[in-house]
Amino acid sequence: MTQLCPICAAPAHPDHAPFCGRGCKDRDLLRWLGEGYRLPGPAIDDEMQEGLDKPRDTA
Ligand SMILES: [Zn+2]
Repeated sequence: MTQLCPICAAPAHPDHAPFCGRGCKDRDLLRWLGEGYRLPGPAIDDEMQEGLDKPRDTA
């Protein structure tokens, strides 16, 4: 049974099934993450929360 890489349709590699290699595996993972998490990262949220928690001394 020959499985084809869902990214580039090349024969899948046993070590990276169902992908043909690590490159396509990473690409699929990144694509999956990109669809699930559109926000740049949690660092910005932490920064914003910290700013909201602190009282505005300069106001
Ligand atoms: Zn591939």
